[in-house]
Amino acid sequence: MENNEKNVEKVIILGSGPAGLSAALYAARAELSPLLFTGTEVGGQAATTSIIENYPGFPDGVGGNQLADLFTKNAEKFGARFEYDVVTAVDLTKRPFKVTTYGKEYYTKTLIITTGASPNKLNVAGEKELIGRGVSYCATCDGWFFRDKKVAVVGGGDSALEEGLFLTRYATSVTIIHRRNELRAGALLQKRAKENPKISFIWDTVVDEIEGQDAVTALKLKNVKTGEFSQLEVDGIFIFVGHNPNTELFRNSLELDEKGYIRNDERMRTNIPGVYAAGEAADSHYRQVITSAGMGAAAAIEATRFLEAEE
Ligand code: NAP
Repeated sequence: MENNEKNVEKVIILGSGPAGLSAALYAARAELSPLLFTGTEVGGQAATTSIIENYPGFPDGVGGNQLADLFTKNAEKFGARFEYDVVTAVDLTKRPFKVTTYGKEYYTKTLIITTGASPNKLNVAGEKELIGRGVSYCATCDGWFFRDKKVAVVGGGDSALEEGLFLTRYATSVTIIHRRNELRAGALLQKRAKENPKISFIWDTVVDEIEGQDAVTALKLKNVKTGEFSQLEVDGIFIFVGHNPNTELFRNSLELDEKGYIRNDERMRTNIPGVYAAGEAADSHYRQVITSAGMGAAAAIEATRFLEAEE
């Protein structure tokens, strides 16, 4: 595509989680007509959460998918444009920046990166082979399939407990397997999980192998203190062992920290003027819907001021 003034966007946003959708809302209200590429996970990780109870304004909680929908409608109402496409490359060496999808090239004066993070894998035998056949990283998406079945949850953080509690709606039992004997999750979730009669815990234990031919049938467990192995019969395993930022595209162009998160400053600026990063791709500390949304809004405000200063 010819790169003339006509086809250069003012703002392109990569990612459709709370950060991207909030950036789209703010950029749209600044009349920049932002173009947002959703990526494969529309709504981001938040959309896979069963219920969000800590986003202000929803005292009874709100479904993750429902909240993503509301964010999207809000941004669309003010003129944000959405492409349900995946960006395969970015060229940040000169402005306007080039954004490439499978079939097309786009140019933009500013770029807001909100590509989020993806769930970590356990990397044990059987995991890859049995994804979708008992191995899952999303209770909201797959919980229904485990009605009246036994499931295990791996992890000791907020996600493991929150999603474990959600799974008790369907499963007959939920066994939480944690590698230490102390949970990382917040006090309220710990209390709820410990009080739930369907939930039990296996401490100081890791999953060594996921067993089953066509579907998960059992887990081979290893006690990390005694070194002893045991078997746990389950129909499903839900894995919540943290996240990795989706920043591979920027490895050679932007400054990343040692864990791969994009380095930005308090104004969401990256090391390249006109390129901003917000949400979990740049935040390993808070990772909340509200903090990501706030970062997205801040990035759009900065992009607006940057463009105004140029005019
Ligand atoms: P997290 O807090 O990083 O917890 C990951 C858990 O997985 C930890 O318990 C960790 O064990 C365990 N783990 C990591 N690698 C493992 C491995 N290879 N094998 C076995 N266990 C492993 O991740 P998260 O629970 O997804 O939460 C991410 C962020 O989102 C947090 O900031 C959290 O507060 C937030 N969040 C908030 C809510 C809420 O507010 N309701 C809900 C969900 C998530 P160790 O404890 O031993 O490190």
